Amino acid sequence: MVEYKAPKREYEFILREVLDIEKELAGYENYEEATWDMIEMIADQYDEIAREYWLSSNAEGDTVGATFDSGKVTISPGMKEAAKVVIESGLSSLFGHKKYGGMEFPNVINTYTDELCCSTNMSLGTLMGLTKGGYHCLHNYGSEELKDIYLPKFLNGEYFATMCLTEAHCGTDLGLIRTKAVPENEAFRVSGQKIFITAGEHDLSDNIIHLVLAKLPDAPPGAKGISLFLVPKILVNDDGSLGDRNGVNCVSIEEKMGVHGSPTCVLSFEDSLGYLVGEPHKGLEAMFSMMNNERIAVGMQGLGVAEISYQNALLYAKDRLQGRDLKGAKKPSEEADPLLVHPDIRRMLLRAKALIDSSRMLSAWTALAIDRSVKDPDENIRRANNDLVELMTPIIKSILTDYGVEISSEMLQIFGGHGYIREYGMEQFYRDARIAPIWEGTNGIQAMDLAGRKMPQGMGRLLRRFFHPALAFIEVNRGDENLKEFVIPFEKALKGLQKTSMFMAQKGLSNPYEIGAAASDYMKQFGLVSMGYMWLLMLKTAFLKQDEDDFYKNKIIIGRFFFERILPETLSRAIAIGTGSKTMMSLPDDGFESANKFSGKA
Ligand SMILES: Cc1cc2nc3c(=O)[nH]c(=O)nc-3n(C[C@H](O)[C@H](O)[C@H](O)COP(=O)(O)OP(=O)(O)OC[C@H]3O[C@@H](n4cnc5c(N)ncnc54)[C@H](O)[C@@H]3O)c2cc1C
Repeated sequence: MVEYKAPKREYEFILREVLDIEKELAGYENYEEATWDMIEMIADQYDEIAREYWLSSNAEGDTVGATFDSGKVTISPGMKEAAKVVIESGLSSLFGHKKYGGMEFPNVINTYTDELCCSTNMSLGTLMGLTKGGYHCLHNYGSEELKDIYLPKFLNGEYFATMCLTEAHCGTDLGLIRTKAVPENEAFRVSGQKIFITAGEHDLSDNIIHLVLAKLPDAPPGAKGISLFLVPKILVNDDGSLGDRNGVNCVSIEEKMGVHGSPTCVLSFEDSLGYLVGEPHKGLEAMFSMMNNERIAVGMQGLGVAEISYQNALLYAKDRLQGRDLKGAKKPSEEADPLLVHPDIRRMLLRAKALIDSSRMLSAWTALAIDRSVKDPDENIRRANNDLVELMTPIIKSILTDYGVEISSEMLQIFGGHGYIREYGMEQFYRDARIAPIWEGTNGIQAMDLAGRKMPQGMGRLLRRFFHPALAFIEVNRGDENLKEFVIPFEKALKGLQKTSMFMAQKGLSNPYEIGAAASDYMKQFGLVSMGYMWLLMLKTAFLKQDEDDFYKNKIIIGRFFFERILPETLSRAIAIGTGSKTMMSLPDDGFESANKFSGKA
């Protein structure tokens, strides 16, 4: 039986004590209602729904799965009920603007709700999360008319959204897409086939609104020739009622490794009526506005699954009796001691906890920057925060999802063979977590985005948005007796990252392979340094309050583990990057083969 408790105290520490969001957000337009009392109330309500409905339908969603019959897709009954409850509670409209019927709560609060959803039911979290992405995309790029029709329906749960990019012959290289759109009167006719479309068909909502990438007849070749279209499954009449069925059909759904509760559809668009979103040929820009939100949300999938895996592994480690403490029996009256006495088990748990805490802090810190980038009255502050979000988005997507897989695997390991069988639910977490480094742009592509685009952008302007506050923190806290043991290794790691960035910028100018070869290591190095900075922010607060209760004392120990055992990994990444691309590019293609024939030589 899987257990789960929402990490409310962890969020209180991060949001209230470290980030002081009450002060930070005070005065931002339409955020007046987001008082701490209100946030606590919503957090409790979300917690109840997540445990009672989302978690209880998670295993059912996995075993029953979404089913397909003659073009119709049915979601498992428990998951359907769980979606209904959250919609009826009004909580699914937390992020929406008041103008369209939303509650307009700060982004930073959504990190909590996103994490809870993905901990308790990642399939449902992704199914419903896409509508949030669709909302933001349409809000940023849609015409007023489209916004008035569709945004309120996204918020009240009547319509769900999808994003339709992938085709059989292209996933990463979207310049190759073949789906076409032909103008007709004020609208367009869209034709083509999309694959792997999450929530492309289901029975959770009255209508499904597809955001589809397609090419106009006069499109320039490649990625510059892509436009974005809104294609409803059922056409909407002028009075807002539902009209005729549009030419969109679900051909099949995929059998897959995890997230069985979420249907992954092949969609056929046959002369479907669609409406242009944004400008012609600028569809990728609009779609990426959806994906930036989505990418941070995908990072939360990694974090959510890591957290629930961790919680269950910890319970098991306290309960399961195997072997004795290396220094002598801890529980002599029992046949054996609990797993938790063993250093190797503690190593796995502490690593998970140190990574989870800093991942959560990194997400909340970035989400606060999103709030500032949208709401701050000062344009310079808005721009600076927007830069920071641009920089951190691929890092959050990539680092949190990679650690989601690592942590769900390590926590399964703590169960031994009992983790590998279905009974304890741990293998589902591992299978579910595995998609997150793949979708919304693979982590390899996120690394290229960071190293190839974000790093050089504006002559390093984006990098400085991270480096400057981190360096300023070092200067201010260098003399702090408590923080010294953390500030010194952090300064080395940060300077190492700056050095690597310079090295790559110089080498990359003459040889693009240098960027490609270094990108994934650079991503890990950057991710770990940013987590180190997050730990410093948390430790500063923890030291100030360490005499108040054990929560703070424990935070200091967990933070120390991060600095002793995890941050040093930045060094090996820097060394790997320093070796350059020569060796990996020098192996001839046939040198990759596993040699198959006996040579006959002695
Ligand atoms: C369960 C599931 C749900 C999905 N949901 C959606 C959805 O809702 N909407 C949607 O549009 N898509 C969706 N996808 C598709 C997903 O986003 C793609 O699978 C992903 O973008 C990768 O594309 P691909 O599978 O074609 O791999 P490819 O593009 O063929 O890539 C294969 C490998 O090569 C690497 N690679 C490719 N190009 C480069 C390069 N230039 N440099 C370095 N490495 C490179 C990639 O990182 C990857 O490791 C979903 C997929 C799955 C499995």
